[in-house]
Amino acid sequence: MTPEDLNTHLIGKINTALLNQELSKRDGKGVNPYRASSAGKCPRLLAYGLHYPELAETPTARFAAVMSIGNALHGMISEWLRLAGIQIIEEEKTYEIEILPGVKMRPRLDWILRIQGERVIVDAKTKSATAFSLFQREGMSVDERAQLHVYSLATGIRRMAILGINKETGQLHIDYTEYDPSFMAHIRSLFRQVKVSTPDNLPERHHALTPHIKEYKTAKNTHRNEYEMRLPWQCRFCPYTEPCWAGEGIQTKEDGTQYRPMTDIERELALVSGGRA
Ligand code: SF4
Repeated sequence: MTPEDLNTHLIGKINTALLNQELSKRDGKGVNPYRASSAGKCPRLLAYGLHYPELAETPTARFAAVMSIGNALHGMISEWLRLAGIQIIEEEKTYEIEILPGVKMRPRLDWILRIQGERVIVDAKTKSATAFSLFQREGMSVDERAQLHVYSLATGIRRMAILGINKETGQLHIDYTEYDPSFMAHIRSLFRQVKVSTPDNLPERHHALTPHIKEYKTAKNTHRNEYEMRLPWQCRFCPYTEPCWAGEGIQTKEDGTQYRPMTDIERELALVSGGRA
């Protein structure tokens, strides 16, 4: 048996099995936008998934493997909780709620724990080292907070937390939040935009181009400035960047940066507000 045979008959077979498992979860009818993990997200992105399923990213074996590793880590954290004698009131339970009139959602919670006599919703997130250090510095993301709010709505429990785990070191960090009715109203308004959307009438973009002024020196040591409007990170990681921004003059540099030159007015505003990066 050659190393190539081993690659084909071991890694190749695992990759194919994982990918087939992931594909079997998709029914080809469009991505359901009404999920807890979609709460707080750009409604235009969700509407693209709903109305244009053919534009959605095809899952890869790598994506399927990452999802599978995440699930395994959840199981491991459950064991840690039991080992620590922490009371698990509920685990991996699916609820059903009406997020909008006539729109059902089936959020699935990681855990409801009892901590010092109080019930707390806890959701685990596995993170890369970079994402973990950002989580330690700045706490949970808006998307994570939105997801927890859906769980809070489903259970009536107002205290919630994200338990982050550094995939590379196993380090843990927790960040708490409380239910905020005005934030929940915002989440609902985003879902409402998706609900009323049609293929020809998608919601407005939830993100705008951001000013970027780069100072640099040319080969002749002459000082130059580069004035650009760049796609925000949410759009750079969105699978619908191209159709969403088509016709807006976005250009792509050799290094993959997507931008369009600033207009004179944008340049003045950026200089006043200091849009340097
Ligand atoms: S590219 Fe940006 S604005 Fe457009 S759908 Fe995606 S996240 Fe929303």
